[in-house]
Amino acid sequence: MEEIFCQGCGAQIQTISPDKPGYTPKSSLGKEDILCKRCFRLKHYNEIQDVSITDDDFLKMVSSIRNANGLVVHLIDIFDVNGSLIKSLPRITGDNPIILVGNKVDLLPKSTNQRKLIQWLRSQAKDAGIKVLDVFLISSKKGHGMEELSGQIEHYRNNKDVFIVGTTNVGKSTFINRLIKQSTGANDVITTSYFPGTTLGFIEIPLDEKTSLVDTPGIVNRQQISHYISEEDMKIVTPKNEIKPKVYQLNSGQTLFFGGLARLDFIKGERQSFICYFSNLLEIHRTKLENADNLYNKHLGDLLTPPNSKTLEILPELTESTFKVAGEKTDIVFPGLGWVSLSGEGATVRAHSPKGVAVTKRNSLI
Ligand code: GDP
Repeated sequence: MEEIFCQGCGAQIQTISPDKPGYTPKSSLGKEDILCKRCFRLKHYNEIQDVSITDDDFLKMVSSIRNANGLVVHLIDIFDVNGSLIKSLPRITGDNPIILVGNKVDLLPKSTNQRKLIQWLRSQAKDAGIKVLDVFLISSKKGHGMEELSGQIEHYRNNKDVFIVGTTNVGKSTFINRLIKQSTGANDVITTSYFPGTTLGFIEIPLDEKTSLVDTPGIVNRQQISHYISEEDMKIVTPKNEIKPKVYQLNSGQTLFFGGLARLDFIKGERQSFICYFSNLLEIHRTKLENADNLYNKHLGDLLTPPNSKTLEILPELTESTFKVAGEKTDIVFPGLGWVSLSGEGATVRAHSPKGVAVTKRNSLI
């Protein structure tokens, strides 16, 4: 195919991968001034769609933002901080200031301490070597926190461009679509323009005569659980509504299975409650620790589901890590799936999660 470039974002037009930059259905190829599907939708429906990029393109993206001058808004999924925090962000942003935005706050129980959550996000960013000016919590789906955030973006951007950066699935499109509606009303037609010097499918949405909001392609992070489970299973494990915690009173020597995707063994400690924050659709099974391996080997994929059969083909084996909890209320976090809150009376637990999606511990948010 001869090389054609999208008149909107500059990405090379291709007809093979709908989730990569430059995708256009074959039927649109003959037209003049061709737009990729993403620019087409933005132009005609004021709606952003996400595309993802490869590692090579990622490096190109690094150099184009580094050399630009503007505010970087790093959107993450508070339900999957490990999987959505971009550890190489400082490389991408160079000296540009960063604000961190935790999306999907509507999923957390109302009793969540948002101040603690913000502190935790700050410390996670710091540990990853990312310096952030400020941290915000929003729900781009429900609108929570959006007005304050747009005000703050306006303040921090200092009349410069704004780059929206995030891994795939954090809600970047939902976020930008809401910003567009907020700033233009649903009916205004958005013009997109080609971000100079890139063929990556950056999309520019004008903020005023000189500056733009730039949507960058979603970065693929291998630590996201979404890379290891099927689309159907993602629908089960990704909460849609506020999480309703499930409480189990456990004795040591008992195990909880989260579907068959993760597992928590209570190794040592007094009887205590394990409060589980997972998608309301994900089934939790309690069993004796001594029977757990057997149950897993016999019933993975039927009683212990998800994984469904498609996921079973790609799911890495479970690996374990042991945690000691004492003194403070602590969450054992299974990235992308949820977490279990322990009261801090003293417990040793062993967490099992798919290899590559490491379990972590934090002070309880609730
Ligand atoms: P992108 O890949 O980063 O562009 O993400 P999308 O905007 O396509 O969103 C990914 C998924 O997260 C979709 O199922 C959205 O409905 C969902 N989502 C996005 N924002 C929110 C939010 O604020 N709350 C909740 N609960 N879900 C959200």
